Amino acid sequence: MNIDELKNIVFENGIVGAGGAGFPTHAKLTTGIDTIILNGAECEPLLRVDRQLLAIYTDEILMTLSFVVDTLGARSGIVAIKSAYKAAIDSVKNLIGNYKNLELKVLPDVYPAGDEVVLIYETTGRIVPEGSIPISVGTIVMNVETVLNVYNAIYLKHPVTEKYVTVTGNVKCPSTFKVKVGTSVAELIEKAGGCLEEDYEVIMGGPMTGKIVDRKAPITKTTKAIIVLPKDHPVITKRKTNISIELKRAMSVCSQCQMCTDLCPRNLLGHSIKPHKVMNAVANSIVDDVAAYTMTMLCSECGLCEMYSCHQSLSPRKIISQIKTKLRQNGVKNPHNKRPERANVMRDERLVPMERLISRLSLKKYDVDAPMNFDTIVPSHHVVMQLSQHVGAKAIPVVKVGDIVKEGDLIGDVPDNKLGAKLHASVDGIIIDVTDDRIVIKPRGDFNGQSNRIS
Ligand code: SF4
Ligand code: SF4
Repeated sequence: MNIDELKNIVFENGIVGAGGAGFPTHAKLTTGIDTIILNGAECEPLLRVDRQLLAIYTDEILMTLSFVVDTLGARSGIVAIKSAYKAAIDSVKNLIGNYKNLELKVLPDVYPAGDEVVLIYETTGRIVPEGSIPISVGTIVMNVETVLNVYNAIYLKHPVTEKYVTVTGNVKCPSTFKVKVGTSVAELIEKAGGCLEEDYEVIMGGPMTGKIVDRKAPITKTTKAIIVLPKDHPVITKRKTNISIELKRAMSVCSQCQMCTDLCPRNLLGHSIKPHKVMNAVANSIVDDVAAYTMTMLCSECGLCEMYSCHQSLSPRKIISQIKTKLRQNGVKNPHNKRPERANVMRDERLVPMERLISRLSLKKYDVDAPMNFDTIVPSHHVVMQLSQHVGAKAIPVVKVGDIVKEGDLIGDVPDNKLGAKLHASVDGIIIDVTDDRIVIKPRGDFNGQSNRIS
């Protein structure tokens, strides 16, 4: 198989990064790469998906990674796993010898080890320049589940219709499920035994970077976790703080101690982001330090500064994110392009151990196993397929209300010449709604609430 054939399979099967923003994977596959890094860091607290997949589907994942390395003409593939994931490490150690172009790299158990720029440094020693992407240093990073999806596409001819999701927090039976894309959050919580108290909120994603969502929200191709927490839990209350109050708090209590900058993972790799400078500029309405605003474009929004570093519980990340959005809306481009040659000499001493982060977030009681449940969850009501669950242009519906679809049928296509991802029906059923944002499928077993037959 050549690169174009591989790209085509990945494109046709709607594969996007399963662990982050959902960058369409076909667009990463190109020449000029010498190292492909398998991201098994899964660095957010409480998430369990990737370490379990690596321990269970080790051969499928390694075989596919090795194949992609060869097809792209890369020199090697690095399987990067945190030291705490013993079962995954043991399983990979047992089989990696079968693949001469792969090697294992054990990462420190710190946050955010899975940030692409941090991961590339930890595995290769290279620093991605400011405002640049991994290929600029000859690498690409692929998530564990993404590679499993490439396996499904190449060897099983199966597009992305399912997702592995850890459901944890204040639920009866924390578990990791294989679930049809488009299933509601509420159904997943129910499958995990339900919530242990009435008043709760749900975070989709990790506690550091995830978002509070409605219980009706659908699972997408990028959902890694559903975390249920009491409404008054610090992780929830921090998410809900109002930006104007945060600005006022910054004006009154930011001591300019610089701890947010000293622990910033991007700053520690030599990038120019300095959250304390941003806080100083907004707190004191400084208008002649343009860099204090444009440097926000170098922030990965890992959340460390506001969830861990700041002793005043201020929210540099929230303020940075707001400035970044405004700059983008006004067409301001990133002017920073420094190419750091080395990391901060204090970096190793300033890495944030997971155990301390979990404790700081008051999540210790929820840091429990979430064993894999091998039964695929098929939604009982309807399936909501969002047309935008990836980076790039929204998919365009190619079905209409009343159409009958089978699992794997194409229902959304990529607009001509745009970056995007195809969308496939995750269940057999009938299309009951099509809008600019979503396609709704009523599963076969739920026709008229009683029939098991389509016709
Ligand atoms: S850590 Fe907090 S108090 Fe210190 S400079 Fe940063 S925002 Fe200000
Ligand atoms: S969120 Fe804060 S700690 Fe993380 S990269 Fe941005 S400024 Fe640095």
